[in-house]
Amino acid sequence: MSLWIQNERQREWMEKIGLLADEFQKTAALDDEAGRFPAEKIQRLRDAGYTALTVPEVFGGAGISVYDMVLFQERLARGDAAVALGIGWHLSVMGELGEGNSWDEDVFSFITEEVKKGAVLNRAATERQTGSPTRGGRPGTSAVKKDGKWVLNGRKTFTTLSLTLDYMLVTAWIEEKQTTGVFLIHKDQSGVSVEETWDMIAMKATGSHDLLLDHVTVSDERLVELISGPRAAKVNGWLLHIPAAYLGIAQAARDYAVRFASEYSPNSLNGPIKDVPAVQQRIGEMELELLKARQFLFTAAQMYDDPKRRPFIKSELGIAKHIVTNAGLSVVDKAMRITGAKSLERNNPLQRYYRDARAGLHNPPMDDAVIGKLAAEAFEQ
Ligand SMILES: Cc1cc2nc3c(=O)[nH]c(=O)nc-3n(C[C@H](O)[C@H](O)[C@H](O)COP(=O)(O)OP(=O)(O)OC[C@H]3O[C@@H](n4cnc5c(N)ncnc54)[C@H](O)[C@@H]3O)c2cc1C
Repeated sequence: MSLWIQNERQREWMEKIGLLADEFQKTAALDDEAGRFPAEKIQRLRDAGYTALTVPEVFGGAGISVYDMVLFQERLARGDAAVALGIGWHLSVMGELGEGNSWDEDVFSFITEEVKKGAVLNRAATERQTGSPTRGGRPGTSAVKKDGKWVLNGRKTFTTLSLTLDYMLVTAWIEEKQTTGVFLIHKDQSGVSVEETWDMIAMKATGSHDLLLDHVTVSDERLVELISGPRAAKVNGWLLHIPAAYLGIAQAARDYAVRFASEYSPNSLNGPIKDVPAVQQRIGEMELELLKARQFLFTAAQMYDDPKRRPFIKSELGIAKHIVTNAGLSVVDKAMRITGAKSLERNNPLQRYYRDARAGLHNPPMDDAVIGKLAAEAFEQ
């Protein structure tokens, strides 16, 4: 056991996920360079039972806690952040739904069985014209009732894991109800397709392409949720999978820099650069930032997992995301300064960490939303 690993199940999974992370790390740079989606890595996670970990115990799953998920996801991200962020969406969607949902009971029971068999799902909520769904914009994707069925048309952007998803939770505007609905869609349904549009410099291997819906028809019970306000208003600890991924990137950058400083020995010095005071200063500062970020993230997860503390949570989850994402950017920056110009070589992992860490700023909740909420709370008190 350790400061963070507190029970036998966590220890076992940390061992398992550590092996997979180390294996995935070997090809993470290649996938990134080619902008290739590593479907085989997601398959390994399915085969290992990892993708079923957040299925609730009452539905025959492992029912892991948010703390467990954060622990495992951070370790996975140290090896392959794109895979971690991708599978994190799936784990968190299942975890969130497992805590209670508005779904038809049979449909939810069906989906838990599917996930236990290896199915992977994610939310497809973003569109070009709405931007982040957390801002409350109305989807351009529409759902219209025709002959007793819902017919969906539209295009979703940023659909992470799109090339391997079995199910998508698609938001669509329902004119007749004057609200946004969430529809459970299977990948093989007629009219569902993926257009490979993902051409970013960060998180290139997440396969976050556009999802197209062309007269996709579903029955009533597949309208699983109605959204009345911005999703950001909900206290959802499962979203901590996001900072967990960015903490993993920061940790990987720190590990690289420490190793580099211990080994790099230019002939102007009598030993490695780890003895240079300026390098030690940066290493110490990285340690401090990482520990603060880790401490806040894991404490936030524990607060959420504790039913007595959860009702008192206000902005703590958003603060955790803000602290970790920004600490990650700073830690990667310091690791690159320690490494020098070599950090910019294309085969150096630090330049990938640098690009990937940037993506965290554009995952929810965004910094301005966190700060704005804190200010509003201050005035409420
Ligand atoms: C790697 C990655 C993976 C992702 N995976 C998924 C996924 O699987 N599913 C999914 O649905 N989405 C996903 N997203 C999308 C993500 O959740 C955001 O919707 C997306 O990044 C757009 O956010 P944005 O802040 O850039 O866009 P916008 O909301 O368009 O914001 C752009 C700018 O305008 C400002 N702005 C816009 N609207 C407002 C407003 N109302 N108030 C104040 N300021 C505003 C913002 O502050 C920002 O400065 C992913 C994103 C990334 C980067």
